[in-house]
Amino acid sequence: MCGIVGYIGKKPAAPLLLHGLSKLEYRGYDSAGIALAQPGHLTVYKSVGRLQVLFDQVSGGEELPQTVGIGHTRWATHGKPSDENSHPHLSLHGRFAVVHNGIIENYAQLKKELQENGVAFRSETDTEVVAQLLEKHDSEDMLRTVQNTVKELVGSYALGILNAAQPDEIFAVRRASPLIVGVARHGYFIASDIPAILPHTRRFIPLADGEIARLRRGEITVWDEAGKVVEKPVQEVTWDISSAEKGGYKHFMIKEIMEQPDALAATISPRINDKNEIVLDGIHLTEEELKSIRRIAIVACGSAYHAGVVGKYLIEKLTRIPVEVDIASEFRYRDPLIDKHSLVIIISQSGETADTLAALREAKARGARVLSVVNVVGSSIAAESDDVLYTWAGPEISVATTKAYSTQLTMLYLIGFYIAEKLGTLTREEVLSLLHELKRLPDQLRGILGLAPQLKQLAQRYAYLEHAFFIGRNLDYAVALEASLKLKEISYIHSEAYAAGELKHGTISLIEDGTFVVALACSPDTVEKTLSNMKEVKARGAEVLLLTTEEHRQLAEEADHTIYLPRVHPLLTASVEIVPLQLFGYYVALARRCDIDKPRNLAKSVTVE
Ligand code: GLU
Repeated sequence: MCGIVGYIGKKPAAPLLLHGLSKLEYRGYDSAGIALAQPGHLTVYKSVGRLQVLFDQVSGGEELPQTVGIGHTRWATHGKPSDENSHPHLSLHGRFAVVHNGIIENYAQLKKELQENGVAFRSETDTEVVAQLLEKHDSEDMLRTVQNTVKELVGSYALGILNAAQPDEIFAVRRASPLIVGVARHGYFIASDIPAILPHTRRFIPLADGEIARLRRGEITVWDEAGKVVEKPVQEVTWDISSAEKGGYKHFMIKEIMEQPDALAATISPRINDKNEIVLDGIHLTEEELKSIRRIAIVACGSAYHAGVVGKYLIEKLTRIPVEVDIASEFRYRDPLIDKHSLVIIISQSGETADTLAALREAKARGARVLSVVNVVGSSIAAESDDVLYTWAGPEISVATTKAYSTQLTMLYLIGFYIAEKLGTLTREEVLSLLHELKRLPDQLRGILGLAPQLKQLAQRYAYLEHAFFIGRNLDYAVALEASLKLKEISYIHSEAYAAGELKHGTISLIEDGTFVVALACSPDTVEKTLSNMKEVKARGAEVLLLTTEEHRQLAEEADHTIYLPRVHPLLTASVEIVPLQLFGYYVALARRCDIDKPRNLAKSVTVE
């Protein structure tokens, strides 16, 4: 999820690695480290905290003579940020050093097997199993060692590997996590992102899924998954450093919108095992404890609160436990009815949101069990909760959240299914069918992202707007809240979300010729009702953009513009519905030339009350 750099060449490696890592700092990280190779020995320097700490530890690396090395900035997913958990990780006897981006989903099983065979682990990470497996498969033939190791891995990984016995080479391999080989005059690089190599070269070779690369002085060899050597043409980077940081996109927000299919897959896939059981690794509630829950409170701020509104509809429906959802700054001051029979679900991207943290403490003081859904490992909210589920969306840089929100929804679905199955309000068959639908979401999102050009066109047409309204019922309403916030926070257009049926109790007086209304009508139970509300606003002159699913094509006649979404399970509509509206908000803000990634007056992590 964070940064990898490796170097082999004529120059001392350490300063180049540190410099390369500094070019990846913008992505956010919690620790950093490098490993350097010399015959028979690998030396590791690593430290939690800023890169500067590592830089000071090795005095800039100028005095270190090794010309082969790998480096990493870590964004923790497994195990808190600490010196021990920082990368590179060494195998038990120090023969191999590994840096890794991504998640090894089957690490717990692999770790257990290795431990049973006497391997002692030094860290809590999933990554360390890779180093230990390399030693297990150690052979004369390093390619075979790497192939046999990756054969055992399930998950996403970009790996940089050093071998003390063959200190004049670096191995690199990737699956579902980016990795490139950089070709410079004085040597070769590996890197997870282009900015890391740009100061040295614009020439690179992208690695494809399953490919293994070996870098030696003056020689790069790439094998495909089947073990066949592949000829890889060298490509030229045409981006400048600023667009390279954004993967070629203009803003982090659009990059992160586009990353949502992968982010969802990273949240979902480790949580469903090969027997199709839900494995919520961070929940330690016993069945007995679950059965004693009388009410659930979901507490959060901003978009996380909107995810909570979806969670309320869904979890209540599935578990038949009363669920309320509250804004953290309200909850903490309203003397909430919470006790030891309550489960409080706390949602926060950063895990540092001040009001949410205070609400968590309030809930704990009243004896409630606290389960948090957060994106940042080792954050304050994670540390103080009884149970923690990580969204694993990867670092989110744009202030306006997109992928973190989407993964929060996914996590809430899984929590809902999990509790419902344990309580028997869903049968195994029902859970199986829901999981089947859930696993299809990443691909469905990929399809929806293809609507971007259409939404861009529409957005350009409505860029002049002063006001906008979003209407929907139930789950559609929950999405309307988030869609409206997305538009207003980045484009500065005044926007409101209304429960569609509530509109006529006041707000409809604002509707006049040309008022822009987005109608969300994907929840099958309420489509017809929302349609009536849409007609009401049309009759008063509104221009309506309708979002609905394919099977309701006949509704389109009533709208000025329609976006069709694929049919998904009625409980999962929020995940597909939000994406076009994120795109719409983005393109409206783009047309208005707003500072999209850093909207005025806003901060990414709100650590004040
Ligand atoms: N899963 C690994 C860890 O937690 C890698 C994290 C990363 O991608 O930075 O150490």
